[in-house]
Amino acid sequence: MSDIDVKYAALGGAAGWLGPATTPELVAPDGIGHYRHYRSGSIYWSPASGAHEAHGRIRDRWAALGWERSFLGYPVTDETAVPGGVGRYNHFQGGSIYWSPASDSHEVHGAIRGKWSSLGWERSFLGYPLTDESTTPDGIGRYNHFQGGSIYWTPTTGAHEVHGAIRGKWSSLGWERSFLGYPLTDESTTPDGIGRYNHFQGGSVYWTPATGAHEVHGAIRSLWSSMGWERSFLGYPTSDELSTEDGTGRYSEFQHGSIYWSPATGALACRETVRLHIKCLTAPTRFSINQMVSNMRLTYATAQVGVKYASFEVLNLPALNDLDVGACNMGNVTAEQVDLFSHRNNVTGNDVVAYFVHSTQPPFNGCAAFPAGRPGAAVASGASAWTLAHEIGHVLGLSHVNDNNRLMTGNGTDNITNPPPDLIASESTTMLASNSTN
Ligand SMILES: [Zn+2]
Repeated sequence: MSDIDVKYAALGGAAGWLGPATTPELVAPDGIGHYRHYRSGSIYWSPASGAHEAHGRIRDRWAALGWERSFLGYPVTDETAVPGGVGRYNHFQGGSIYWSPASDSHEVHGAIRGKWSSLGWERSFLGYPLTDESTTPDGIGRYNHFQGGSIYWTPTTGAHEVHGAIRGKWSSLGWERSFLGYPLTDESTTPDGIGRYNHFQGGSVYWTPATGAHEVHGAIRSLWSSMGWERSFLGYPTSDELSTEDGTGRYSEFQHGSIYWSPATGALACRETVRLHIKCLTAPTRFSINQMVSNMRLTYATAQVGVKYASFEVLNLPALNDLDVGACNMGNVTAEQVDLFSHRNNVTGNDVVAYFVHSTQPPFNGCAAFPAGRPGAAVASGASAWTLAHEIGHVLGLSHVNDNNRLMTGNGTDNITNPPPDLIASESTTMLASNSTN
């Protein structure tokens, strides 16, 4: 008897589940092994692997890949039930094929199989493979998707799993074709024990139950890292990296602050945030609101104050569009200012509102006098690029100075000589202590 005959007899012969032979024992196309087909499966033998049966959907998958001439080679086990589960597998010389009712049969091999094995095979959070190993769209990497996540591999990064909300974020950004590239780690627990992260070639994705999953990368990530990651005062990211409204800067928001970056300033950590609402009666004519907000981000970041552009609303209030501001003295407002500043849709607590009006009467670029408990400022349509930042500076407690290098110059922000204008350390201290920064 051949080894194939011995295996057949052990499985019950013609009366067993394999049923009667449908071929004689034949030499396999690779010229090395032998095989014999039966009504309900096959037995393959080679000198290196011995004789093993394959059948059903696992045999179908192996056949589709090219039988023994595929990278899988010959089976080294019979089809076997997974421990305590519903699935089945054959191991082969070059990998494995796993089947379950929900996932059908798929092969897994090489470093990806090694990673899956190290995590606990189908009993891990990954569950069963949902794909064969496949080439990534960029042509460089390989992956298997599993029921509970994916494993990605490249020659330079090795094999790493990514799953859950972090995988969802990576997917939404474009997988390996995004700036993140391939994962460099499995999903890992942060040192504070609360969050989870994967590092990627081009950045990281951090997740917590409270914040969700957000990417952080580049100079902003470098600064956050140097500060101590999530253990810094910033905590976890609450946004992906965002562009400033005028496209000249970038920022990421965190639980307890933000990091701003621009080519001129590099990365700057902001430990407080002013929540800014824009309410527009007349759009400014010389500089856009977006440019003014972006300039505000730029100067305020140098004082460790971030800006949250919380809402925008158009107000149709023609009677207040040329706003009577009287002498524009802080704490001394007109009836029209009381009326205008009562419009606080979406505004909570000590959020700050900038009302863009056609003009102030008398004519100023803006006026930061506001009624008690309604912090904000009016900005006229002829305002300079720095008027918004300047007027909100007043709202946060800053006074005029006689220095045209500084944002708070009392000589008119059109006369600023060194954009972006300076906020000095004592002004930063005042802003950070303001009730309107959090
Ligand atoms: Zn002023």
